[in-house]
Formats: sequence, structure tokens, C-alpha cells
Amino acid sequence: MKLPVCKYGDPILRKKGALVTEVTPELRQLIADMFETMEAHHGVGLAAQQIGQALQLTVIDIRPIEDRPSTLELDGKPADPKSIMPLVLLNPVVKPVGAPEAGSEGCLSFPKLYGEIERPESVDVTATNDKGETLSFRCGGLLARCVQHEVDHLHGILFIDRMDRATKEDLKLDLDDLQAATKAALKRKK
Ligand code: ZN
Repeated sequence: MKLPVCKYGDPILRKKGALVTEVTPELRQLIADMFETMEAHHGVGLAAQQIGQALQLTVIDIRPIEDRPSTLELDGKPADPKSIMPLVLLNPVVKPVGAPEAGSEGCLSFPKLYGEIERPESVDVTATNDKGETLSFRCGGLLARCVQHEVDHLHGILFIDRMDRATKEDLKLDLDDLQAATKAALKRKK
């Protein structure tokens, strides 16, 4: 089932996610719904906060974007990033290994808004997946950017927090409008 995506201005986006300790049937359904929601919006990553759940859970599938390369290393050996897609990350921990690099980012909670964000070019990731397996890999390029963007969500951090002042200033009117529209919609729902 496709779920509504929480937009900027919804307080859930600022909540740190609780650790996931058990993969229950309900969680499996939530993961399936998150993939369906992400695909419907042509996204490559979605965090639990974006569908209204403060959990350490994100889903990623970078395969729809073919013009921005990714790298993957499994046990220190190069591997095909597509081989680990789609990716479910529970309780992920990310360690930067590469130098910061600027790149364009968008976010399903900020429709039609994009900005250049600096992030480490590659990262080491450890997490568990929905089968209870431990995942450990090093990734670079788009996949590293996507993982970092999503793991930020799990800690209540948004991509606008990592924009430089000039970029955020350029987007300020749109951000204020979006925030006001979200708050008004939430008030109507109550
Ligand atoms: Zn996002």
C-alpha cells in the first residue's frame, strides 16, 4: 500500500528513530509499503520518519538513476552496487572514509526542491537487514550520498541542515511556504 509522505514542517521529520529490535510481520509490511511509496514517487531512498514512523529503518534502491555512478566494496573487494539492491537498512551506522564532495540532492519530503550538499564521497556502512543478517560494506558515489541522506533522516537531520547558507537562502521562500502548508494541513487533520 502506498503511504502518504510527511513533508517539511511535520514534527515527525525531526524525531530520532528508535532502534529496531525485532522484524515482526507488521514491520515487514511497513517495509513493503515503504518500497511501494518510494517507487511511486520515483525516489531512490525513503526513511521511516518520512512515512510517519520514528524508527531506525530506511529503504534504498538506486537502480532507477543510471547517470550517477556508485561504487561498492564487499570484504574489501569491488562489487556491483546493483547486487545489494534493493537495500533494507535497520539500525545503520555510517563512518565517513572519503573526502567531502558536493552533489545535487532532493528529498521526497521537499517536493521539487534541490540543492548542492557536501558529503564524504565514500562511507563504511554496518546495519542489519529485514532477514536479521548483518550487512557491512563500503560504498561511494550516489549510493554513499543516498545512504548518508537517509541515515540523517533516522536522526532527525534534514538535507537543508547541510546546505551552505547561500543555497538555503535561495530556497528560503519555498521552504517557508512548504512549512506553512504542511502545518496548516496537519492542523486541519486534527
Ligand atoms: Zn530525504
